[in-house]
Amino acid sequence: MIPVCEPNLKGKELEYVTDCMKKGDISSQGEYVPKFEQAFAEFCECKHGIGCANGTVALHLALKALGIGKGDEVIVPTFTMIATANAVKYCGAIPIFVDSELSTWNMRVDEELENAITDKTKAIIVVHTYGLPVDMDKVNDLAKKYSLYVIEDAAEAHGATYKGKKVGSLGDVACFSFYANKIITTGEGGMVVTNNDKIAERCRSLRNHCFTKPRFIHYEVGFNYRMTNIQAAIGLGQLERVNELIKEKIRVGATYDKYLSTLSYIERPPKVDYATNVYWMYGIRTMIFDKEELMKELERQGVETRSFFYPMHKQPCFKKDKETMLQSYKHMPASEMLYDTGLYLPSSTLLTEEQIRYICDKIKVITWKKGQE
Ligand SMILES: *Cc1c(COP(=O)(O)O)cnc(C)c1O
Repeated sequence: MIPVCEPNLKGKELEYVTDCMKKGDISSQGEYVPKFEQAFAEFCECKHGIGCANGTVALHLALKALGIGKGDEVIVPTFTMIATANAVKYCGAIPIFVDSELSTWNMRVDEELENAITDKTKAIIVVHTYGLPVDMDKVNDLAKKYSLYVIEDAAEAHGATYKGKKVGSLGDVACFSFYANKIITTGEGGMVVTNNDKIAERCRSLRNHCFTKPRFIHYEVGFNYRMTNIQAAIGLGQLERVNELIKEKIRVGATYDKYLSTLSYIERPPKVDYATNVYWMYGIRTMIFDKEELMKELERQGVETRSFFYPMHKQPCFKKDKETMLQSYKHMPASEMLYDTGLYLPSSTLLTEEQIRYICDKIKVITWKKGQE
């Protein structure tokens, strides 16, 4: 079976983890956490990095640090992984879902976004879907006009650039995930990055139970969202090779493009002139062939695939909730179409050209007949 993704741990990860074990630095105490935080922040062209347990809590920390709470509205793309919306819910705030652009698979940044803004809106979360940055100038212009914060959920786009600038540095604060299938991994892990000193300090405090002096007197309810030194050790090993890993992702993307370009009825990942796509996952849309059937057939041929996200406005858990229920009656045609037609193919940095050709050949064989009709 060719997996959708597998971690690439061929650098100094094991050496650094062994070092933690030998020194006994296995909790969040130890030198690797600050080293990894600083190096990753630098990689994102940001001043501060706050490591944490995973990408979901990175989002929660960022929202909390911005003071988002009960009754506030936060704009979230409907086409995303559920963590983006859940983090808003954890704050008691209301996620307001916005449909996608079929041209980028990202959230619409036109009048649809502007129309979603109310006097309760506090922030916009953008998601750089599958590795392609959002058109941030449009988002930042609207945020400025309505005095809103901009949070980047960059969990799928480490190292991607927008007009020459790194994702993570394009809003007020950004959140990354280092889950095992992300562009770099720490197993489980996440980080908040920002250029804002105050936000950084708030995140650090909230991450660690809002400890103050004197110790064990707490003025605020915080969290234990700390990253372990072992996670950071893996992360540092990964980060030393991040540019190589991104290069491999782009190679995989280009190889798929080459072999799939003859199939007019398979839509390939979007390209834009203002940003680089780092192809976290290589997604396709099947325009004539049934998606579920294609996924099943590929599995039979030893190729693992995964469906595109199910839109947030359709999620049963948000439908049940009176604050978000009404949104489930809305028709958000682009995101629904993305779900109906989209899947992603194996996208590991370790894929060989042979494997990619095999996968594309199978897609051709499975869909060819239907393509001629
Ligand atoms: C992976 C992902 C997250 C969550 O990260 P975890 O580390 O799994 O908690 C959040 N947002 C998006 C867009 C993701 O893809």
